[in-house]
Amino acid sequence: MCVLHASLLNAVNVDGILGSIQSFLAGIGLHRYGQEISLWLFFAACGVAQLLISFLVCTPLERFRPLTSWPKRNPIAADVTYALFVRLVLFPLIAYFEYAWLLQNLDGLLRTYSITPPSLSGLIPLFVSWPPTVFFANFIFLDLADYWRHRLSHRYGWWYGIHSLHHAENQMTFWSDERSHLLEDAITYVWLIAVGLLIGVPSMQFPFLILCFRLVGSLAHSNTRVSYGWLGERILISPQFHRTHHALRAAGRRSFNYGTALPWWDMAFGTARFRDNTVETGDAGAEPALVNGSWGEQQRAGIRRMIRLARRSRKMPAVRTAS
Ligand SMILES: [Zn+2]
Ligand SMILES: [Zn+2]
Repeated sequence: MCVLHASLLNAVNVDGILGSIQSFLAGIGLHRYGQEISLWLFFAACGVAQLLISFLVCTPLERFRPLTSWPKRNPIAADVTYALFVRLVLFPLIAYFEYAWLLQNLDGLLRTYSITPPSLSGLIPLFVSWPPTVFFANFIFLDLADYWRHRLSHRYGWWYGIHSLHHAENQMTFWSDERSHLLEDAITYVWLIAVGLLIGVPSMQFPFLILCFRLVGSLAHSNTRVSYGWLGERILISPQFHRTHHALRAAGRRSFNYGTALPWWDMAFGTARFRDNTVETGDAGAEPALVNGSWGEQQRAGIRRMIRLARRSRKMPAVRTAS
C-alpha cells in the first residue's frame, strides 16, 4: 500500500500495521474508507502514545522536582483539550494531508516534467548509507525553520496577537506546550510542510519529526527545576531556557530564546539568554479570557487581540506591541 522511503521508520513495519488495521476495518464492514480511517487511527494512536510518554516523564518531574507552586491551581481543562485536539484531530489530519495527498501529488507532478523531487539524501551521499542521519538532518532543518517562524510571530503585531494565547499562560506546565491558537497552528503547519517539501522530508518521516518536537516541547514547558547542565542546555532546549522565553517581561517583540528543540539558532543569531532565573510566566497585556477562559473563549480572545495589535502596529509600527 505505501512505499516508504529508507528511514528509521523502515525498522517499524508501518505498512504491516496499516494493513492489519485495514483488514480489521474490512472485517467490520468499513472497507469503503479503509485507507483513510486506518491512517487516521494510526497517526492518532502515535500522537496519544507520545502524549502518554510526555505525561509519564513530566508528571514525576513536576511533582518531585517542581520549580514553583501556586496556592490555587488554574483549571487545566482547556490545556487538556488542546493536547487531545492536536493528537486526535490536527495531527492525523496534517499527517494524512502531507503523507497521503500533498507529497504524492507533488512527486507525481514533478516527475511528469522530469524534475527530480528535492531531497537531502540526494545531496549528501552519507545520508543514503546511514538513514538515521536523514531523520536527524531533517529534524535540524525543520527546527531552524520553526525558530524563524516563532521569531517572526513576535515581530508582527497581528501575529503576536494570536501567538499571545501561548504566552498568556501564567501557570506554565508541560500541558502548556499545546496551548496555541487554531490560526497559529494552521500557519505553523503550512510553514513546516512547505519547508519539509523543500528539503524532501520522506513522507512517513514528517509526522514523527513533529512528534519529536512535541516531546522536547513538553519537557521544555515543564514546571521543574531539573537542569540539563551547562553543556546539556546548549544541546537541547531546557525547561529554564524556554521559561525565560515565557517571562512576563519577554512577552511581545523584545523576546529571546525562540528555539523549539535546539538552542543552536538562538546562539547563532544572538537571541539566546541562558543565565536567567525566570519563575513567573505570562503576558501582562492579555485579557482574562486569554489566560483562563475555556477553549472557545481563548480562541475568540486571540482573534480580538490579533485585530487590536494589528491596528496598533499600523499606527505605531516602531513600538512594542505586547500590551
Ligand atoms: Zn513566543
Ligand atoms: Zn512555549
